[in-house]
Amino acid sequence: MLKYRADYRPASCKVISAGLDISIFDDRTFVTTTLELERIGDDPFLLNGRELTLHELSIDGRVLDEADWPVSEAGLSLEGLPAKCVVRTRAECHPESNTALEGLYLSGGMYCTQCEPEGFRRIGFFPDRPDVMTVFTVRIEAGRQFPQLLSNGNLVETGEVGDDRHYALWHDPHPKPSYLFACVVGDLDLAADKFTTASGREVDLHIYVETGNTHLTGHAMESLKRSMKWDEDTYGLEYDLDLFQIVAVSHFNMGAMENKGLNIFNSKFVLADPSTATDEDLDRVESIVAHEYFHNWTGNRVTCRDWFQLTLKEGLTVYRDQCFSADMHDEGVQRASDVSLLRAAQFPEDASPTAHPIRPESYREINNFYTPTVYEKGAEVIRMMAGYLGRDGFRRGTDLYFERHDGNAVTCDDFVAALADANDRDMSAFHGWYSQAGTPTLSVSRRAEADGVTLSLAQATPETAAGTPREPLPVPVRLGFIGADGQPVRTHLDGENDARDEHVLLLDSAAAEFRFVGEAGSGPMTPSVLRGFSAPVRLVDDLADDERLHLMTHDSDLFNRWDAAQMLATGAILSLAGGEAVAVEPLAAGYRRILGDAALLDEFKAGTLRLPGIAVLEAARAPADPVALFSARRGLLASLGRALASEIAAAIEARGQMAGHAGGRALLTQLVELGVAAGDADAIAAAASMVADRNMTISQGGLKALIHSEDAAREQALQAFHDRWQADSLVMEKWFQMESMSSVGGTLDRLEELMQHPGFDPKNPNKIRAVLGAFMIGNTPGFHAADGSGYSYMANRLVEIDKRNPQIAARMALPMTRMANYDQPRQDLMRAALATIRAGAASNDLKEVVDKAL
Ligand SMILES: [Zn+2]
Repeated sequence: MLKYRADYRPASCKVISAGLDISIFDDRTFVTTTLELERIGDDPFLLNGRELTLHELSIDGRVLDEADWPVSEAGLSLEGLPAKCVVRTRAECHPESNTALEGLYLSGGMYCTQCEPEGFRRIGFFPDRPDVMTVFTVRIEAGRQFPQLLSNGNLVETGEVGDDRHYALWHDPHPKPSYLFACVVGDLDLAADKFTTASGREVDLHIYVETGNTHLTGHAMESLKRSMKWDEDTYGLEYDLDLFQIVAVSHFNMGAMENKGLNIFNSKFVLADPSTATDEDLDRVESIVAHEYFHNWTGNRVTCRDWFQLTLKEGLTVYRDQCFSADMHDEGVQRASDVSLLRAAQFPEDASPTAHPIRPESYREINNFYTPTVYEKGAEVIRMMAGYLGRDGFRRGTDLYFERHDGNAVTCDDFVAALADANDRDMSAFHGWYSQAGTPTLSVSRRAEADGVTLSLAQATPETAAGTPREPLPVPVRLGFIGADGQPVRTHLDGENDARDEHVLLLDSAAAEFRFVGEAGSGPMTPSVLRGFSAPVRLVDDLADDERLHLMTHDSDLFNRWDAAQMLATGAILSLAGGEAVAVEPLAAGYRRILGDAALLDEFKAGTLRLPGIAVLEAARAPADPVALFSARRGLLASLGRALASEIAAAIEARGQMAGHAGGRALLTQLVELGVAAGDADAIAAAASMVADRNMTISQGGLKALIHSEDAAREQALQAFHDRWQADSLVMEKWFQMESMSSVGGTLDRLEELMQHPGFDPKNPNKIRAVLGAFMIGNTPGFHAADGSGYSYMANRLVEIDKRNPQIAARMALPMTRMANYDQPRQDLMRAALATIRAGAASNDLKEVVDKAL
């Protein structure tokens, strides 16, 4: 059944307070909810409950006969409640057999919860909707073999129950919805630290991990402290409890969850040091720790009225964590990496059968809306508004937002209104970005004039499966000009006087012209448009390759330097895929100039050498043949590897020195990958020896360079990596990934072998993603095999996964639905595979995804 945003109705009762009593036994768990209610409307009041056995229901102490229980499909539908009353339910749930990993479940001997968005209803009867916020008091009781009994807020009391059980009582003074509830019961090791807030509150920081793993928590702990400080410095937001806890669990559907004061993390995003995690992994840990911490204000203190507003907390918090990472590292490198993700994951979604605006109008299963659109495009929309208001204006807006809405559940419109009111600006045009799906195209063409240039800008939003309006949107366009000498040219807009290096235009109509006049004697100038990727659009311009090379070498905007290289590489790969000969030397010369530019960071150089991924290439060609694009991409890597042979040899020579810092490691591994692609014997030998390195960035970099190589070094390196790490479950995920992404060795038979490996656990989402997810995304020739064998294999696996874990099955099915851009035979094969999934799908989650595609 579809739910519509327009159908929102407030709950008919306020919950003044909630008491939870959770009592865990080996074969069942009892959960009592005690809700103090105040009636504010006449609708029935729904206590959601799913897969629960109700044992008792009472209203104001009066126990109802089982025959009088108001059981509905969704839970208990209470009618005719007194103006004020206390409703109590006692129910039973079964974490020990819960494989969906929603609600309360067992992971590696530890009980933990995942409630967002609608998991609480699998724990106890409760109004499980984000706009019902209340103060929770939680009592947890379990056997003494579980020393930790954790929940949100502050620990009030602990005690014994008989000889072999104990309890803990927690109180969270901050009102919150049920999706932010958490509890953890286990036998865990603790890493502890402290943080003092700007106003002097001393906060205990606790990270709980499986036994023997505390030595791997240092990076996460430091990341947490940096996040706390940054939010104070940047937004004036302090932490608001005396205790902040993080628990790492091995069975987790997502990255992490921001439960109030008790964040629960996928262990791969907590346990990381340079010997087991790459520099990229460490940066991801830092950004996820920051993201979940930032939710304490953007999401927890001010939350979403309903799940249609998910981007209110996610778009804003992703924007905040992106800015944090840019401040901790380098802005240009960070922006290139964020935009790479947007183009690879969100742009294809916006063109697919599951396209939706960042604030959807309807859904069948809300689990399916934790998407790149809601998160990453949502962050881009916040970024545009922040850019439009400027740093101080945006801060005024967020200050007003927290002042107005602290402790409330609100909408995206409330957020935009706070930004507008605090700055006395009309922001109404930005609402279109919330309601329209599809990636707009921004077309830019030039008309040269004696003293300057006129730019014609036009925007168009394509038709999408979402069928939303396609009105012109406000598109901020940052731009400048680069002269023939490589220096920025100062220009002024026709009719204005002050000449500038850079302009910000706001295109808010379908088309407009802007005339720029260069300073006297400036000569020909190359436009550098959409600097910093100032809007989430597809840019179509009229630059020639030599002009892009000019920008790649000289642009003062680092993002556009990186992007010029991406565009040139994309063009070369498309030509190769179309069977054309490509002169690689001009591009190689561009890379040589980048490599030799002492002003650039090694991280940036490495990012420039990273060729666009398959998803980006597919979007640039219709119909796309993914296997041909994969081969062409390998072909360009090989040509560049030959053309840059002396740079690669020099890097291998300087390996010891480069390995000493993150930028050097990124550049070294990138260059070695080019050398291996070119079949260079020295590069292959270097990659093979890197695999044995003690630093994981170097080790994984060597392995990754080899996985598509026919050389015997590939199998030897994989075996060596396996033998070294077979006892380390998290590092083994890297090995599974590399095995299954290998276009040489990652056959369907090999996937079967991997899933029989003792380190594989079919109930663990990380392991499923490491083998099957990596195959779909990383092994293009295998997954997109022309005979359809990859599709039908995956279809059968997804049906099996759906029986245990619908959320994971639905998310992993998405690449199967991205078929519109492929040739007809491939589309037919994908459709047949989807029909297999549809016939076997048990869950709403999976059915919704497949139905949209079919
Ligand atoms: Zn989030």
